[in-house]
Amino acid sequence: MVRTRYASNGRGEPAALLSTREFKRGMTIDTTNSGVTEYRDIGCGELRRKHAGRTLRLAGWVHRRRDLGGVLFVHLRDRSGLAQLSFGPDWTGEEAAEVASHLSPEDVVQVSGKVVERPSDAINEDMATGEVEVLVSEIRKLSGSDSLPILVAVPPEEQLPSEELRLKHRILDLRRPEMQQNFIVRHRATQAARKALSDRGFLEIETPFLTRRTPEGARDYLVPSRIHRGEFYALPQSPQLYKQLLMVAGFDRYFQIARCLRDEDLRADRQPEFTQIDAEMSFVGEEDVYATCECMLTRIYDEAIGADLETPFPRMTWAEAVERYGTDKPDLRIPWTLADMTEELTGIGFGIFDSVASDGGRVRGVVVPGGAGLSRKQLDGLDKVARDAGAKGALWIKRTDEGWSGPVAKILGDGAGDTVAAAHEIAPGDLALLVAGPDRESGPALDALRRAAAAELEAVDLESPRWLWVTDFPLFEEDPETGRPAPMHHAFTMPKDVTPDALKADPYTVGSRAYDLVLNGTELLSGSIRCHDAALQRAILSVIGMDDEEIDARFGFLLEAFRYGVPPHGGFALGLDRLVAMMVGASSIREVIAFPKTTAARGLMEGAPSAMDPQLLAELGLRPA
Ligand code: ASP
Repeated sequence: MVRTRYASNGRGEPAALLSTREFKRGMTIDTTNSGVTEYRDIGCGELRRKHAGRTLRLAGWVHRRRDLGGVLFVHLRDRSGLAQLSFGPDWTGEEAAEVASHLSPEDVVQVSGKVVERPSDAINEDMATGEVEVLVSEIRKLSGSDSLPILVAVPPEEQLPSEELRLKHRILDLRRPEMQQNFIVRHRATQAARKALSDRGFLEIETPFLTRRTPEGARDYLVPSRIHRGEFYALPQSPQLYKQLLMVAGFDRYFQIARCLRDEDLRADRQPEFTQIDAEMSFVGEEDVYATCECMLTRIYDEAIGADLETPFPRMTWAEAVERYGTDKPDLRIPWTLADMTEELTGIGFGIFDSVASDGGRVRGVVVPGGAGLSRKQLDGLDKVARDAGAKGALWIKRTDEGWSGPVAKILGDGAGDTVAAAHEIAPGDLALLVAGPDRESGPALDALRRAAAAELEAVDLESPRWLWVTDFPLFEEDPETGRPAPMHHAFTMPKDVTPDALKADPYTVGSRAYDLVLNGTELLSGSIRCHDAALQRAILSVIGMDDEEIDARFGFLLEAFRYGVPPHGGFALGLDRLVAMMVGASSIREVIAFPKTTAARGLMEGAPSAMDPQLLAELGLRPA
């Protein structure tokens, strides 16, 4: 999987792109940044044995200093990595020694000195530049640093400061080599996407930020118009309608690294603004879109982290995913699938199962091989997982050499256990986690149980990435709040083989041409072949609750465009923040966004949002003058 690749640094020298293993070790950051400038001859992280004997200038931040009395060592840092400087009486002048003796972490300096090979016992294998050091003869302090509110050079064994502090002092946090590495990967991923799409004939076209409200399922951020009092622009939740209109306008293939803004109640790993690789294509079916995405992702992985992807990715219909895994985002790294045990577990004297079944629900379970070793406490934890996922709870049964144990063990002892064990391959040493209820409750609970049990047992290969196309989504699902049909993807998705009248008469039975791409149980990309038929589009909007007047007011421009010849079209949007976070192994997308908001939607560094001057509000008509 891991391979190191090389690219030129523009000066005829090969500059190493790092392998993922090197990223993890933080050996060096980026040697493609060799900019020779007025201040420096080479990047700190670029020094190698071949430079020994040369006198070179470096510029950067004081990362760490170690005073050994007589000799002073400083790690100098710039984006390319770390270099060891050494100051000593035999090679450093008095003036320079004086400056060096007062250096503080994060002072910015320029040095000049001779690069020398380190003696073999002083070679530092964990540093890309560890075979050499610079004997500094001159130093110039370019600017000083006050004492630091958070450390940049966090020792590996020490924990990072709280996220609140990191976000407040984001500039210092971003200086950490690990963070710089994240943004280098992000840059490479973005460039690779651009190249991949451009090479396939996609044009990069920008779409407006000040737009009209359109539904993407979330709340809009609104911008008051000063010129048109009482009217508002909406910030785009995605460029969805613009990109479709670009197809109607004949551009054939479009892409954009697009910022999307959604005023959602923030969940742990969401951001009010996030970035999508957004694309649309004309005259295409699903296969064309899948091939484009796979080609783009292959290039991204190759160029950003030097990893190979195996394509084509496997596929599964939505119906199969939901039946076998309880979710439309199955984590295929965990092999256990859901089983319908209703037949074996009803009519055996357990009232709850019987009543669930007579209400149209099912008793479903997941068999966890080797799971009988989980403790009572771990099993209680799993019960909570099921409840948190919306079920009434989970029941567990263990099969051991002695028989059954668990809350329903007694009933299983009477022969029912043999039947269920034979039907669902429950062997001694196994655990089965059961959830009874309507599928919409048991599915998410069993999905959560699968993931939680896999984590508890550490028995599943969580390292190898598993990609999956999920296809053939229904067009609508029931909105739990309103009880009305709501689009499962969005309202501009092409329904499958249906007339406008039939769609209105029986919306829940209509299929759609939407697809998602899932990586390790996380949805990374979604898209669809679009509805390009005005009558069908009207029918969809009417099913989700709009009358003709509202449809014309809000989507008249789209339906109007559809009157003048529309190419069949489709596209996708890929969550760039999430993709990069997964590539660098970050736990949150905030690690790969330079200036993210907190989960409470605040920018802690700059202090956003902020109260507004009453006069400005009056100018906008938001308060009396
Ligand atoms: N606009 C959609 C989204 O943001 C993606 C697409 O259908 O292309 O989810």
